[in-house]
Amino acid sequence: MIVRVSIGSLARLGIENIALIDVPTTLYVLQYAPNGCIARCAFCSQSHRNSSSREYLARVMWPAVELEVLEKHWKHVFVRICIQNVLKRMFVEELMTLLKFFERFSTPLSLCTTPLPSKVLEDLAKYIDCLGIGLDAASPTIFESVEKPFTWSTYIRFIENGVRMLGKAKVWVHVVAGLGEDLRDVVKLAKRLTKLGAYIALFNYVAPPKSERRFPGIKVEHYRLLQIALKLLDEGYDPEHYIDFDRLIVKRALPIDPLEAVYTRGCPGCNRPFYNESPRGPIYNFSSRSLLEKHIKEVEQELQAVNAL
Ligand code: SF4
Repeated sequence: MIVRVSIGSLARLGIENIALIDVPTTLYVLQYAPNGCIARCAFCSQSHRNSSSREYLARVMWPAVELEVLEKHWKHVFVRICIQNVLKRMFVEELMTLLKFFERFSTPLSLCTTPLPSKVLEDLAKYIDCLGIGLDAASPTIFESVEKPFTWSTYIRFIENGVRMLGKAKVWVHVVAGLGEDLRDVVKLAKRLTKLGAYIALFNYVAPPKSERRFPGIKVEHYRLLQIALKLLDEGYDPEHYIDFDRLIVKRALPIDPLEAVYTRGCPGCNRPFYNESPRGPIYNFSSRSLLEKHIKEVEQELQAVNAL
């Protein structure tokens, strides 16, 4: 069977020969669909409607590789394996085959998927300890405008189901900032998810290489405010008490260290180096402490620009 694997993960296994500035701690696997995913998400290079190369997801290349090649080159260098779906014929059966295959490496497994019927999730959940859900949009309006498949409420029900099956703090909802949302949309959603027992894995919108930018994106300083807001919620604080979302600044002394908020958010061990930014910067999600140390001056300036330092 053929799958796509992020080029950084392949480099860690010695299958691709590229220099890594920072190493992925998770093996990222994506279902292979040569004609593209049948969903119509306007920002995604895997969608059949977009002319971008299927070799990419965000700004990362995902070469196609046979499972046997992965097995042959396997090294115990990852703390997690993440298997991500596309919508295509028989994708559920293929997900089951993939989970059974990757189980042999005795590494915690995440499944990142669009909504599935309860019975199907129940079957797949036996293999995983964490679930990722590609909601992507921060509000129902953005959800419609980017043409996500299913409905907003189907996703919310699926998130609830995921928490019921896997437990609290095991469900990570992917949200892409920069699709035209208001920062308050993300905070409103995060508050709702926190109550449900799920968290946001935050992404920055980037157009795939060599394709046009279709959405406004988000300034890195405003992304820092979102990261601070999510960290505040994690720690049990109300972001609105600390952040002025009209003036886009921090309005009173933070009870958290803002430098602790800038790391990649997701399942334990998921660090996604340079998934949504160029190594030249600005870096939106920091994949490691050493990478943050290299960029500390820029990050401090970004935080000072929004009154967070
Ligand atoms: S947070 Fe990371 S490991 Fe978890 S589902 Fe999302 S991409 Fe995969």
